[in-house]
Amino acid sequence: MNREELCRAALKAMRTAYAPYSDYYVGAALECADGTVYTGCNIENASYTPTICAERVAIFKAVSDGKRDFKRIAVCGGKEGVVADIFPPCGVCRQVMSEFCTSAFEILMIRSEDPLQFETVTLVDLLPFRFTPEHLEQI
Ligand SMILES: [Zn+2]
Repeated sequence: MNREELCRAALKAMRTAYAPYSDYYVGAALECADGTVYTGCNIENASYTPTICAERVAIFKAVSDGKRDFKRIAVCGGKEGVVADIFPPCGVCRQVMSEFCTSAFEILMIRSEDPLQFETVTLVDLLPFRFTPEHLEQI
């Protein structure tokens, strides 16, 4: 799947967001090294803290299917599903990406849907000096 197709998958996933409290819909599409794609949307909760981001839904779906090697993720979001600007992954999602992804892992942040525009950055761009499983091996 090319980058544009992955972005389109994230935009489609955004439509399934469950966001009755914020009205911010977020979508993600994660491409595994083997080409498999997992999508996710944000899922909110009335008690707020169980809310989970689209990126982690996609990553956890993949991990629960035994996937561990990821190539890139496309992310989009906006009020009521209207993409008006990039919607960068939150800090928690960046840390979850650090658990499974290399520094070169790509994050495609969608800026607009029509025409499709997105920014491509790497995980190390978003989370320099990241804490990884290798740090625990040094103890
Ligand atoms: Zn997040």
